[in-house]
Amino acid sequence: MLRDFEQELHNLEAQHLLRQLRIVESPADTTITIEGRTLISMASNNYLGLANHPAVKQAAIQAIEQWGVGAGAARLISGTMVPHQQLEEDLAQFKQVEAALTFGTGYTANLGLIPALIDQNGLILTDRYCHASLIEACRLAKAKLRVFHHNDAEHLEKLLKKREKVCPTLVVTEGVFSMDGDLAPLPDLLNLCKSHDATLLVDDAHGTGVMGPNGRGTIEHFGLNPADVIQLGTLSKAIGASGGYIAGTGSLKEYLINTSKAFIYTTAQPPAIAAATTTALQIIQKEPERRERLWENRNYLYSELKNMGFQFTDTQSPILPIIVKSPETALQMSQALYKTGIYVPAIRPPTVPKDSSRLRITVSSNHRKEQLLEVVETIRKIEKEMRLV
Ligand SMILES: *Cc1c(COP(=O)(O)O)cnc(C)c1O
Repeated sequence: MLRDFEQELHNLEAQHLLRQLRIVESPADTTITIEGRTLISMASNNYLGLANHPAVKQAAIQAIEQWGVGAGAARLISGTMVPHQQLEEDLAQFKQVEAALTFGTGYTANLGLIPALIDQNGLILTDRYCHASLIEACRLAKAKLRVFHHNDAEHLEKLLKKREKVCPTLVVTEGVFSMDGDLAPLPDLLNLCKSHDATLLVDDAHGTGVMGPNGRGTIEHFGLNPADVIQLGTLSKAIGASGGYIAGTGSLKEYLINTSKAFIYTTAQPPAIAAATTTALQIIQKEPERRERLWENRNYLYSELKNMGFQFTDTQSPILPIIVKSPETALQMSQALYKTGIYVPAIRPPTVPKDSSRLRITVSSNHRKEQLLEVVETIRKIEKEMRLV
């Protein structure tokens, strides 16, 4: 027998770590329907309400009429259609870089990028809280891997100085950390990379569309030059569609087209999704008021919950993680909220470190004030009942 699956699942359940799928009966929006009940959803990364936006849907429908459903082949064979090319041009312009390349998902963009950048002769230095897809990609690259303390530029500097000889070095971080909502100290990290001949890779999955005056992401937020870093992200969060991308130089793009396995050996993203993504990008740029509402909602909810005495991470984004430590408490609170009509996921190890289980609340520009008020009042009631603070 390979493994005793039942026993292992049993063990997970006993530790309150068993995960189960919930079947959702509604589109991604500020409400969510599960088992016939409609709840307020504080669980989606659809920060700007674009996943179910009429114009984005219309773009997909029209593109299906014109281009069909599947791309029919990998990008290098016959799968690169006009909507793919258009999207990559628009992404490059949005990110203010020479070129962008899209992948099936953000996860595969990471798997496709990092092993193409560095091999066993190199060194990767990665933040301890980096997303699982980054860690998997680093492992796949076979380079020596060292982890620096979360957002700790001094620790990174030590590791950079400790290199025996100067070797190809890649520093990996997220712009906005997905489970903590805090920002990487990108100016410090970039300075270190410049002075130590290292390259900085920023996974801006949660920053794109959200951070910076024009929503271009965490690089814009900090006023850095996009030409100084390699950026990667997803089309599935604020952009509301599906897919991943890399933003960098034209030669990086050409190189990846020729060497990146997760790009070459997989079917192209459905053309209609590429077309819908292009429309979503236009809306992000034409309607800055979405981002303004997002931040208003985020600031309101954060200050109300903070006033109740909850322990938060150092979040500076629409990701609002209430730390409750034990997975059991996180589950209990999530279930109590579920019963009262609010959907907030409990995030437990191994997604987050031991003793830092949390309720991960995410806010959208589309949440209405009444919905947020209800969330605040319900959490206040449940907190009293459970005596959490
Ligand atoms: C969500 C996420 C990804 C994966 O993107 P998908 O398009 O969902 O596969 C990668 N990196 C980070 C930091 C993320 O938060």
